[in-house]
Amino acid sequence: MTTYSIAVIPGDGIGNEVVPEAQRVLEAAARAGGFELDWTHYDWSCERFAKTGSMMPADGLDRIRDKDAIFLGAVGFPGVPDHVSLWGLLIPIRRGFHQYVNLRPVKLMKGVESPLKGREPGDIDFYVVRENNEGEYSSIGGRLYEGQPDELVMQQSVFTRRGCDRVMRYAFDLAAGRKKHVTSATKSNGISHTMPYWDERFAAVAKDYPGFTTDQFHIDILTAHFVRNPDWFDVVVASNLFGDILSDLGPAVVGSIGIAPGANINPEKDYPSMFEPVHGSAPDIAGKGIANPIGQVWSGAMMLRHLGEEAAARAIEDAIEDVLARRDSLTRDLGGTAGTRELTDAIIGALPASR
Ligand code: ATP
Ligand code: MG
Repeated sequence: MTTYSIAVIPGDGIGNEVVPEAQRVLEAAARAGGFELDWTHYDWSCERFAKTGSMMPADGLDRIRDKDAIFLGAVGFPGVPDHVSLWGLLIPIRRGFHQYVNLRPVKLMKGVESPLKGREPGDIDFYVVRENNEGEYSSIGGRLYEGQPDELVMQQSVFTRRGCDRVMRYAFDLAAGRKKHVTSATKSNGISHTMPYWDERFAAVAKDYPGFTTDQFHIDILTAHFVRNPDWFDVVVASNLFGDILSDLGPAVVGSIGIAPGANINPEKDYPSMFEPVHGSAPDIAGKGIANPIGQVWSGAMMLRHLGEEAAARAIEDAIEDVLARRDSLTRDLGGTAGTRELTDAIIGALPASR
């Protein structure tokens, strides 16, 4: 029997509640699918940072390098600045393991109310593919004449041909199994070096995909289209900063932040990929047993798909759709009264093997 070894990092807050619940769903899917999941736990978190001064041990990446995947909850704690969890854990893992694709599905599900009026399930079903390793989030830059009237701050963006091409190819390959339509987010009317280069690479990569349709929008109008015309999109590819914005906006237009999944993918599989929901540690509801586990469970389905277990991934996604559509076991963020555990039980109950 195939066994996948998974590094589990529940992190902080509700991460500690939704991760074990999601593991129950993945275990059930694995039993039905005839494979095994071998979990190793790591306490890397802001809580650890508060005790020891670091989010993870210095050799953290080496400890999980040989895992098949990383299953992450959420990191963040009131009083610990965001840059600590970002630069102390998330960014080292994303960059160290060449997880250059950040993938977020944006899908309106039956039973979930979209803040967009009149939208039906099926109207909104696309992916945001965010470049995850370079672009605007370089740490190159500096500050001059500090405290003086001439004070000046600069920050460099870094776009490489390899970096652009590989994330764009991923977007096209993803669209190949869908509607074969790829949209590029740009801003080449205002950003005069990097964005024209991004456009140039998009056109060059698109040449290798005959039969595909493409379009591009400046990021400002593209955000408006996400709200007004979300039915236009199939796969949207964007730089690190623009993708960051779009990959939060996308899930927001299809409902609760509690159901949105995410993945940081190394497509070549030379290092493990990391799967984590869009939501954070939600300190305001942590410890109450009311967090919505769907974002974590769905991220787990994406993990199984990445590992090659497509049938198990589909089974979990179908179970999520079932439970959402039935509306009788939903958590408060979706207008129900169920707790984390009840909603998880409902998902497990909706898996084919337990029917
Ligand atoms: P972080 O700094 O860790 O990203 P945050 O406060 O910025 O945390 P979230 O943790 O995502 O962002 O929380 C935003 C809001 O959404 C909070 O009110 C939170 O309670 C709610 N929320 C987030 N995730 C869930 C969930 N899984 N179920 C229910 N509500 C959630
Ligand atoms: Mg946050």
